[in-house]
Amino acid sequence: MHMRHLVVSGLGLVACTTARNIFNLHPDHQGTRVISVAHGTALPQELVERNSGARCGLEFGKCPEDKCCSNAGYCGDTKNHCSSPDCQIDFGHCDAHDTPGGAPTDQIPRTLAGAVPYGPRFIRSCTVPGTIALTFDDGPKEYTQDLLDLLDKYDAKVTFFVTGNNNAKGQIDSPGMPWASLIQRMHRSGHQIASHTWSHQDLSKVSESQRRAQLLWNEVALRNILGAIPTYMRPPYSSCTEESGCLKDMGTFGYHVILYDIDTEDYSHDSPEAIQSSKDIFDRSLDSRDAFNRPWLVIAHDVHEQTVHNLTEHMLKRLTAEGYRAVTVGECLGDPPELWYRKDDNFDERIPRQSKSKHSVTKTVSVDGMCGGNVTCLGSRFGPCCSDTGFCGNMSSFCGIGCRPDNGYCGDDAGSVMHGGGASSDPNAGKSKSKSTKKPAKSEARSLLQLSPSVAVLLLLFLVVLMD
Ligand SMILES: [Zn+2]
Repeated sequence: MHMRHLVVSGLGLVACTTARNIFNLHPDHQGTRVISVAHGTALPQELVERNSGARCGLEFGKCPEDKCCSNAGYCGDTKNHCSSPDCQIDFGHCDAHDTPGGAPTDQIPRTLAGAVPYGPRFIRSCTVPGTIALTFDDGPKEYTQDLLDLLDKYDAKVTFFVTGNNNAKGQIDSPGMPWASLIQRMHRSGHQIASHTWSHQDLSKVSESQRRAQLLWNEVALRNILGAIPTYMRPPYSSCTEESGCLKDMGTFGYHVILYDIDTEDYSHDSPEAIQSSKDIFDRSLDSRDAFNRPWLVIAHDVHEQTVHNLTEHMLKRLTAEGYRAVTVGECLGDPPELWYRKDDNFDERIPRQSKSKHSVTKTVSVDGMCGGNVTCLGSRFGPCCSDTGFCGNMSSFCGIGCRPDNGYCGDDAGSVMHGGGASSDPNAGKSKSKSTKKPAKSEARSLLQLSPSVAVLLLLFLVVLMD
């Protein structure tokens, strides 16, 4: 039995390093429990655990109420089950179902002003000579503050394609979270803020109403932070096909659909050695240009440490040395700043709003360091995470295994997040499915490739059970 557990742990490691977007095996993952129960000597407690780890998905259907369906098809309520985009939104609860409070944005007029094309047209390149638009997707996350400091140092302006609630970071407009103030700082500093949807779903694969929700929920959260909604967006995985109706919808909602012509592939190179490949991609593109001031539109991700602490400064030095200006996407397309957003004239930030999260609507903030039931650690002076023993804190014993997502923040990065530091590393930082490529089709191929190790792990797990 010990041997088997070792085998499973080893496979888990492989799964984490090769396909952690898809199948994030954790030491307390349900797979271990399945084996314990199948051994035939299951204790009552283990049976309870198996019950809460019921199967879900296309073949099995929905999870019981309030339970989340993990990417691997198990019901549960841990961060691994519930965090988007891996959580299966059609088969249970997901953190992405917690939605921002405040008035809806669907009544904001959406005139298609200016000369830059809106959906269904894609935009892959900048038009203003001598400009480079660096763009950063999937954030904000714990490295974003460092990125803003770096950009200030170079007086560079960039564009952030912000995701509202992904990778277990919580809602961007949540009080007690650092995201809203980071987004306000981006705006104050002259960067452009654009939408990368609420929870990073593939817009070509979800239903029309889900697609609409993905746009509108992110709008409400950004409006709560900025008083306005963006007119620029980038579809997750660069996936927004004509056949699915997605491209047409983007036009209907008044969005410019932005792709890129340099993919740094930073999501594949997040180590001090591997990031050199991303630098090479950037350098080769500049070397290959046909005109000396040909503009570029570059994609990177501020959720990756090497992107923020290594690649970006390389790009800034190189482009400055070549006489380029680092500008926003709006500026590289010659679009005046007043057209980058639509103001919500009915929005009054003085009116308190209530999040539509069923988890936080009626919660009160802990005043004595204890949490549970109706009391949350979010916003308390003891730390944002509620441990399994019911105390607030910001260390891994509070924010990691056993952390109660209903009563605070759960995530390995909570310590650095709440104290503005960057010392602790977050294994989930690379969890975003940032498999953006130049064509949606290629992106899909990549997903399939990444799925195969996960499938192999699942098959092996079941084989071990059967052999038992
Ligand atoms: Zn993305």
